[in-house]
Amino acid sequence: MTDASHSNPVSGAPERGVASARRATTGTSWRAWAIYAGVLATFVASLVWWRQRAPTTGQTLWLVGLMMQTIIRAPWVRATRQNHIVASRRTTRDTLLLGAMFLATLLLPLLAVGTPLLDAAELRPPAIVTACGTIVLAACLWLFWRSHRDLGRNWSPTLEVRDAHGLVSTGIYSSMRHPMYASIWLGVVAQACLIDNLVPAAAGPVAMAMMYFGRIAAEERMLAERFGDEWEAYVSRTGRLWPRRAGAVR
Ligand code: SAH
Repeated sequence: MTDASHSNPVSGAPERGVASARRATTGTSWRAWAIYAGVLATFVASLVWWRQRAPTTGQTLWLVGLMMQTIIRAPWVRATRQNHIVASRRTTRDTLLLGAMFLATLLLPLLAVGTPLLDAAELRPPAIVTACGTIVLAACLWLFWRSHRDLGRNWSPTLEVRDAHGLVSTGIYSSMRHPMYASIWLGVVAQACLIDNLVPAAAGPVAMAMMYFGRIAAEERMLAERFGDEWEAYVSRTGRLWPRRAGAVR
């Protein structure tokens, strides 16, 4: 799995070589940051000149959550650039699933907050829903931070194996295998409670379900091939999204 001559079990295509994978990492991250900055700039301009209405309390909390997620992830995007990709299993399907997540957890919520385009689907939930959303958002941000810290330079936005890729089985990963996905599940639930609009409230969980169930088997297969018995032993003592064993996080 570490050499570039293996074929991709998902698409059947040969895996990309080291050089092209290196180019792809840098290119993808620059493109992603440029798109992200452009979307946020357009959002602020639209909020001020078109929307002309302050976000609700829930929407403000959602925006704070978005900013905190960006701040938590940013150093790892930089750090992983030095840990080059040696095998990529990025497929067209995975790219489409990431696109659906981008739409459901960034574009649609920003349209709801910053423009009148989705006003027909506005919601006015009771304060208890906003309060619950805030608690779920706090849990999401803690787990998002903790999983990034523990996964370190092994993190990838898609299915990839890196140069110095070790199996992480300590910290939050000692009891659950997919804490980052668990945090994103919490994030879409928090979004549904806080965004005060039916369209992004429904789209977030739907896109996450598509991404999670469309990716999880391929990700675990990739790690099983890479880490063999070490992976099997790890699976036997952990849960996917929920800790299998009670115990303090080391
Ligand atoms: N599914 C994990 C990680 C998401 S990031 C979570 O939800 O926490 C996706 C990348 O993480 C994949 O490309 C895979 O190579 C890597 N990865 C997933 N679990 C890992 C582990 N236990 N140790 C090392 N790398 C892992």
